[in-house]
Amino acid sequence: MEKSIPEIFGSLVFDDRVMRARLSDEVYNSLRKTIDENVRLDIDVADAVATEMRDWAIENGATHFTHWFQPLTGVTAEKHDSFIAPSPDGGVLMEFSGKELIKGEPDASSFPSGGLRATFEARGYTAWDPTSYAFIKDHTLCIPTAFCSYSGEALDKKTPLLRSMQAINKQAKRILKLFGKEVKYVRTSVGPEQEYFLVDSEVFSKRPDLVYTGRTLFGAMPPKGQELDDHYFGVIKPRVAKFMEDLNQELWKLGILAKTEHNEVAPAQHELAPIYSTTNVATDNNQLTMEIMQKVARRHGMVCLLHEKPFAGVNGSGKHNNWSMATDTGINLLSPGETPYENAQFLLFLCAVIQAVDDYQDLLRLSVATAGNDHRLGANEAPPAIISVFLGDELTAILDAIKDEKPYEGAEKVVMKLGVHSLPRFNRDTTDRNRTSPFAFTGNKFEFRSLGSSNSIACCNIMLNASVAESLKQYADELEAAEDFETALHALIKRVITEHQRILFNGNGYGDEWVKEATEVRGLSNLKTTADAMPHLLDKKNMDMLMAHKVFTEAELRSRCDIMLENYCKTVNIEGLTMVDMVRKNYLPAIERYLHRLADTTRLMKSVSENVKCNYEITTMERLSELTDDILIAVKNLEDALAGVKKFDNVIDESAYIRDDLIPSMDKLRKYVDEAEMLTSERDWPFPSYGEILFSVY
Ligand code: ADP
Ligand code: MG
Repeated sequence: MEKSIPEIFGSLVFDDRVMRARLSDEVYNSLRKTIDENVRLDIDVADAVATEMRDWAIENGATHFTHWFQPLTGVTAEKHDSFIAPSPDGGVLMEFSGKELIKGEPDASSFPSGGLRATFEARGYTAWDPTSYAFIKDHTLCIPTAFCSYSGEALDKKTPLLRSMQAINKQAKRILKLFGKEVKYVRTSVGPEQEYFLVDSEVFSKRPDLVYTGRTLFGAMPPKGQELDDHYFGVIKPRVAKFMEDLNQELWKLGILAKTEHNEVAPAQHELAPIYSTTNVATDNNQLTMEIMQKVARRHGMVCLLHEKPFAGVNGSGKHNNWSMATDTGINLLSPGETPYENAQFLLFLCAVIQAVDDYQDLLRLSVATAGNDHRLGANEAPPAIISVFLGDELTAILDAIKDEKPYEGAEKVVMKLGVHSLPRFNRDTTDRNRTSPFAFTGNKFEFRSLGSSNSIACCNIMLNASVAESLKQYADELEAAEDFETALHALIKRVITEHQRILFNGNGYGDEWVKEATEVRGLSNLKTTADAMPHLLDKKNMDMLMAHKVFTEAELRSRCDIMLENYCKTVNIEGLTMVDMVRKNYLPAIERYLHRLADTTRLMKSVSENVKCNYEITTMERLSELTDDILIAVKNLEDALAGVKKFDNVIDESAYIRDDLIPSMDKLRKYVDEAEMLTSERDWPFPSYGEILFSVY
């Protein structure tokens, strides 16, 4: 009999239900304290938890366990150990101790560390993150962990994320105290919407560019792209529907709240959104979701493309990071309240976000910077590389009224004096369909839309949490010292709105006028590529802030900048090499084959009759022959550019070279090959066309 969703949901997760049922009250309570209040776990408790976790895992088919973590590049990493230990009687025992639960020592040498391990200690270790539940995947008990060097430097994305959550927790609690509220904790919540493409595996395997780089490096536009929008509104194709059904089941078993699924604008493009959860859990879940999407797609004879821009000229894939702050009592701090005091509190938290985005535009931008995402940001499909905040008309009018000390022209006319007069109630702004804004307020949360589909959401949330913590810290310092809280609060909010006006923008973010206004009039930064953005991680103001809140150490920041840039360089380099390979081995010989046939045909036809002109054959030959010459020059240029990469010993200069020399030579080569595709017979063309790939799943 089919199981119901409530039966399936979380069935492979060692969640609160399992813990409560299996652990003694004493152990459960002490673990709960660790989870809720960050209290250090003692080893006896860990032993007791490990024993129950092992028994539960074995009952559910697990034979191995692994410390599951998120290295600085790649999706997730795991090294499997089996539970078995020799027993004196020659058999085996299934063992798993508290020590093994808490700490692991993966062979870290193959993970990028940007020189960190060399500087500190050769090995790294993983440490259990008890705030994220353990789960079973492929017969393996996966224990979510942080990955550190022996001196405690973070080698992963999770450690700084947890630290940033602590930073915002600390500062937000100070603010709430000023409003007379004592809470246990404030946590940030995230709901990431994930876009992806599905293509047929057979077609996929015929494209070396997709296989090696996850995106097409060549391809002329098909006669039909996304202009009709019929895919978006159309029903989900049966094969895709089956995949989604299967995917949902797998995700539900892992306790992932997969909720919405629909087609996206481009053919073969889809989206999946879970219900939001605490940021570190949402991050783990999103990494798992990406992994499972790819696995399930394979089972259905398809490949799930998570690349930001698999096809030029067709909508790319992003990820929307819906973000809010909430207390342990379930109060969303970004929800406009009912009473004046709540309004003022809401406005203060709103200001904190606005100021954070303005002060640390560059950090937000670089947190989503990858070679893949560079193809989207600033193209007319994704938010621009310029970061700005959209608030909607109503909230903007309210802030303007506060700033200018003018009556608010809303439902009731009232001069804003916070904490004294009632602010009008905010309606959830239904006008927010501004899809062009990178950072939009959507009623009770902010939606950061610049993420690429393959990005880990850890990076942007680290920056977001840390920079909001910084605004809150400044406010708490000021307000704690104030003689009259209400007067100081009003002055502070007014000042922040005035000073950070430039980051607020409700207009069309895709227009050229915005680029001009943003950069020339408002002085906002426009960091177009990863090579432009990433070095700003080491700007003094950014390092000072991130270190002051103990989110990163200096060594960690330097290593991260290196690793991210290295990753950018390697990615583009592989793309360049793949292009050379495809052109030399496949495209040029294919065009030559076709030219040969045209030449043969022409000769043959002319031998039959002197009167035939062979216009088609001859003009095609002439143009294709010019193109092969152009392709040859372009491929040689690309080879030279690739050789040039080797001369750098500094990754910042190397990435600038890649941006200025390598990528333009790749673009040039592509242009000629794509033109040749339009002139060459399909029979001779060596790879499936865009049309064949994009419409390969039906
Ligand atoms: P859309 O953006 O398509 O209108 P929704 O706004 O309903 O869709 O939700 C998008 C995502 O935002 C979902 O993952 C949802 O769970 C999440 N979300 C909703 N409320 C919050 C919140 N307070 N904090 C964080 N994420 C939220
Ligand atoms: Mg959304």
